[in-house]
Amino acid sequence: MERFTGRNVLITGGGSGIGRATVHRILAEGGRVVAVDVNEDGLKSTLDRATADGTVDRLTTTVLDVSDEAAVRTVVAEAVAALGGLDVLVNAAGILRSAHTHGTSLEFWNRIVAINLTGTFLMTREALPALLAGGKGVVVNFSSTSATFAHPYMAAYAATKGGIQSFTHAIAAEYAKQGLRAVCVAPGSIDSGMTNNPGLPADADFSLLAKLSPALGQGFAGPETVAGVIAMLASDDGAFVTGTELRIDGGTHM
Ligand code: NAP
Repeated sequence: MERFTGRNVLITGGGSGIGRATVHRILAEGGRVVAVDVNEDGLKSTLDRATADGTVDRLTTTVLDVSDEAAVRTVVAEAVAALGGLDVLVNAAGILRSAHTHGTSLEFWNRIVAINLTGTFLMTREALPALLAGGKGVVVNFSSTSATFAHPYMAAYAATKGGIQSFTHAIAAEYAKQGLRAVCVAPGSIDSGMTNNPGLPADADFSLLAKLSPALGQGFAGPETVAGVIAMLASDDGAFVTGTELRIDGGTHM
């Protein structure tokens, strides 16, 4: 499939997990990609894989902390200029931190909100003019099954993911007449840097986490399972999908 030939895509969190898998999927489908991440080593691995795949000539990587307003402004402007326009923004960057809510500091709370929710807002705000200029821009944001299904010890994380869903619905309505589509993916049980180290409290009650096993398959799925759905949503195959979220969790939450 070559659904992204001639299309320009900006992807955050492109140095690991689902963001990286999405970079490679869009490149494989002919797109041009700017991948950003706070993790420089992760971006180097993404570049190495693109070199091996023969797609590296359509990939640029830049280190960026999506919670840094000034840096986001600069990097998005540079990405739009380098690509010559923007068709799709994928906001995959995020952090998962777990804690008992009664022991959650304001600093801990604010850090998760700053990266997951505010970072999604900042990237979207800066990309919107270029996305609207093309007449059929797409924003793919990252919710999570934690937004609508209880995930103990992850209250701060879950709150950001619920906020991202609400934010996505609002912009979908606000810009629909200008051709913009805004959708969320809501993954769960995906093998990634994040789920390899969820940092649960040492005394976590695992009986509360019983609903973390997928009904399908033999366990967690690879990040490419989400990347394929993102490619569908961001391509013309998703042309009538906006203001909604799609759960991708192998039936963990049915
Ligand atoms: P991941 O492998 O940890 O990838 C996330 C990437 O974002 C990492 O490279 C991370 O860098 C980067 N990042 C962290 N803070 C950043 C910042 N301030 N600015 C820019 N980049 C930053 O995890 P993933 O599972 O692929 O996560 C991708 C998205 O999926 C996230 O939004 C996550 O919440 C969502 N999600 C995942 C699952 C799942 O089952 N895996 C479920 C629901 C939702 P560091 O490694 O240095 O932190």
